[in-house]
Amino acid sequence: MIVLLKKDPDVRQLQNLMDWLKSMSLEIHVSKGANYTVLGLVGDTSAVDIDLIQALDIVENVKRIQEPFKSSNRKFHPEDTVIDINGIKLGGGHFQIIAGPCSVESEAQVFEVAKCVKAAGASILRGGAFKPRSSPYSFQGLRGEGIRLLLKAKAAVGMPVITEIMDISQLPLFDEVDIIQIGARNMQNFELLKALGKTSKPILLKRGLSSTIEELLMSAEYIMASGNERVILCERGIRTFETHTRNTLDLSAVPILKKLSHLPVIVDPSHATGVAALVPSMSLAATAAGADGLIIEVHNDPPHALCDGAQSLTPEGFAALVPRILKIAAIVREGARQ
Ligand code: PEP
Ligand code: MN
Repeated sequence: MIVLLKKDPDVRQLQNLMDWLKSMSLEIHVSKGANYTVLGLVGDTSAVDIDLIQALDIVENVKRIQEPFKSSNRKFHPEDTVIDINGIKLGGGHFQIIAGPCSVESEAQVFEVAKCVKAAGASILRGGAFKPRSSPYSFQGLRGEGIRLLLKAKAAVGMPVITEIMDISQLPLFDEVDIIQIGARNMQNFELLKALGKTSKPILLKRGLSSTIEELLMSAEYIMASGNERVILCERGIRTFETHTRNTLDLSAVPILKKLSHLPVIVDPSHATGVAALVPSMSLAATAAGADGLIIEVHNDPPHALCDGAQSLTPEGFAALVPRILKIAAIVREGARQ
C-alpha cells in the first residue's frame, strides 16, 4: 500500500499515523521528494482501512497495490482449485453443466426434468426450494418440501443437487444437499457467508446484482476465512441500463476472475439474459470465455412454470445445446494445454 502525504504534513499527525501503522506490524519505507512524501507500507495490509487513512488531513492519496483478498487470490495459490462434488470434479479443466428447474414445483416436475437433463449430459441437478422473489405475492418456493422432493430426485436419478439457502436457520435441511447456493441477493449477507464458511459443503456464490468483481471475491473471502475453501464463483449478469435483457452478462468477468483467483468460475446464462432464446448463444460464449461450467434453467413446460419460465429451456432445447457446449469446452481445454 502506498500513502501519498500532502505537502508539509503536520509532524504530530504524521507521527500518530506512523505509530498506528507500526502497531499493525507494518514496515514503513519513507521516500521524501521535493514536494511530497510517500510512505510505502510493507506487510499484510488486508486489515488496513484505506478509507480511514484517506480521510486524514495530512493524506493526499492512498493506493492499494496488493489485492485485499488473500485466500481466493491466485498469487498465493497458483494452481486452479478443483472441487470434488460427490465424485464430480469442477475446475482445473473439469467442465460441468448444472441444469434443472428454477423452482421445484412437484415431484413429477422435478423427476421429469432431472431425467431429461441427465440424459442430455448435465452432471448436477439444480432446483430452488427457497426462492428469493422480488414480490412477496409471487410463488416463494416449496421450502422444506421442495428440498425433500429435490433429494428424492437425487436418489432416483443419481445426480448431486444444488439449491439455494436464504437464511442460516434453514441449514439443517441442507444435510444431503451437495452444493449450497448463495443467491445474488445474499452475496453480501456477511453473517450468512460466515456461517456457511463453518460448513464443509461446496458453496456456489453468485455475483450480486450490482456488485463489482472485487466485492464478489471479498464475499468469497468471508466464506474461506471462516474455514470453507470450497467456493465456486458464478457470474449471473449485473444490472445496467439495458432493457432487452433481464441483466447484462458480464462475460469479461470470467477471464478476470480466473486471472485473479484460483477458484472455479461458472456462468448462469439464464438469469443473465432472462430470455430463453438468448441462453444457447450466451452458453457457448461463456464456455469460450473459459468458464469452468454453466448453470442453466430447464423446465418441462416453460409457459406454465411457477418461476422464470421465460428464461427456461425446454428439455429438447437443452439436449440440442449440450453437444455444442461440450465441443467448445473441448477446444478451450485443448488450447489451455498448448
Ligand atoms: C436462481 O438461481 O434461481 C436465482 C434466484 O438466482 P440469482 O440469485 O442469480 O438471481
Ligand atoms: Mn430462476
